[in-house]
Amino acid sequence: MHINLVPLPNEFHTDYKLFFRKSIFENTSVEYDSKYSAEGYSIVIDEKGAKVRCSNKAGENFAYQTLKQLEYNYSGNIPYITIEDKPAFSYRGFMIDCARHFFSVEDLKKMIDAACLFKFNKFHWHLVDDQGWRMEIKKYPLLTEKGSVRTHSNFGRYYNPNPHTGYYTVSQMKDIVEYCKKKSIDVIPEIEIPGHASACIHAYPHLSCNQSVIPVRTHAGIFKDILCAGNEKVYEFIFNVLDEMTAIFPSEYVHIGGDEAPKDRWDKCPLCQKKMKELGLTDAEQLQGYMLNRVFSYLNKKGKKAITWNESLRGNNLEKGITVQNWREKNDECLLRASSGGKIIVSDFFHYYTDYPLGMTPLKKTYEYNPIKETLEESYRKNIIGVETPIWTEFIDNIEKMSTMCYPRFAAVSETGWTLKKNKNYDDFSIRLKKVLPMIEKYGLSYADSYEWDPGFFKSAKQIIKFAYNMYNKETIKSRKE
Ligand SMILES: [Zn+2]
Repeated sequence: MHINLVPLPNEFHTDYKLFFRKSIFENTSVEYDSKYSAEGYSIVIDEKGAKVRCSNKAGENFAYQTLKQLEYNYSGNIPYITIEDKPAFSYRGFMIDCARHFFSVEDLKKMIDAACLFKFNKFHWHLVDDQGWRMEIKKYPLLTEKGSVRTHSNFGRYYNPNPHTGYYTVSQMKDIVEYCKKKSIDVIPEIEIPGHASACIHAYPHLSCNQSVIPVRTHAGIFKDILCAGNEKVYEFIFNVLDEMTAIFPSEYVHIGGDEAPKDRWDKCPLCQKKMKELGLTDAEQLQGYMLNRVFSYLNKKGKKAITWNESLRGNNLEKGITVQNWREKNDECLLRASSGGKIIVSDFFHYYTDYPLGMTPLKKTYEYNPIKETLEESYRKNIIGVETPIWTEFIDNIEKMSTMCYPRFAAVSETGWTLKKNKNYDDFSIRLKKVLPMIEKYGLSYADSYEWDPGFFKSAKQIIKFAYNMYNKETIKSRKE
């Protein structure tokens, strides 16, 4: 049975014999019924119009997206249909990197509108990184005064000689939170601990091990100057920042980073070494675990949960309560963690990173990726709480390019997040998607044309070579030697 909806509802029936020929929204009624799950809903369309049943606002919102797609695709001819629907995963996220390039509130709202259409429920907002701090924190004004400005941009061969700047005020961030709330989307802010902290250290050099002044970075990379884990002033800083963040963002989760943090400075820092000795730690990765655990426990006292990237598992001492976002796993650490009760969000870079060209990560590859490994025992599969697709913006400085990279692949991840594996089928998905995707144009967004979704061998090879060529950067190579 085929119906032009993305993501595909998990149960539906229509025989395409009778059709509702009036405006569906003028003939829709909603009834709350506690028997429905948090995000579940049912819709019955018959001669009276649409009857929606759900248990709360989230279910109502998701039912509304389904009706919107039906109205768009079958306007004046909506087949009588019954739909019983609820998501496969409770966590269905998209991430936008606003540190490498700043995007206006207006642009973000366009991306949020589109994400809502595809029933995403988490917006992971990457607000700080080496190349810019974009979140206003009243107690530390230099974070945005100094940390949001870089002199120029040189990401690979992408070069812009002009200063790049921009940050979100408290009221703008609250505005985004409110906007998302109406669409049943939680906003999860991210602060990077201890790495990717150049912009932060540029503003407040006392936060690093050697306290030297470093620039807001102008190129991509992994940088050795990270937050000192042995200095109590660093914890005081982090806790103060978190106090303000949690006052702005009501989400149960805060993302606290934990990725790509070289330990060169910690190995030589007297304070870090002293802290390790005090704690009886033998490996700097354990010190990172200690640092993140301490931040987690601070958040916990505020009734919050924490997410970290998977490198934070390296020290083997990360608190069980921390949810791990798996982007690049080498030794099945996440599988082991899920097998011992830890919660995992799947963001495999090779399948879900949309900053790679379609020639490298074609739509089918994204769609068919199974976030649950076959080797994970049945009883632990519930610990894979969901999926998230990120867009990193080193090479993306405008909303048109961003949306063209994200769509169609965001839609593919949304279907994996919502639709049960047994109901998924790529050929059917691509037919449905061609009908639904033009809807994002009215939000002012673009998308890749369907002939580009799964490029053949030669086209892919060309795109991959171009991508690799564009990555080359003298500044990056120089900074690795520092
Ligand atoms: Zn240190």
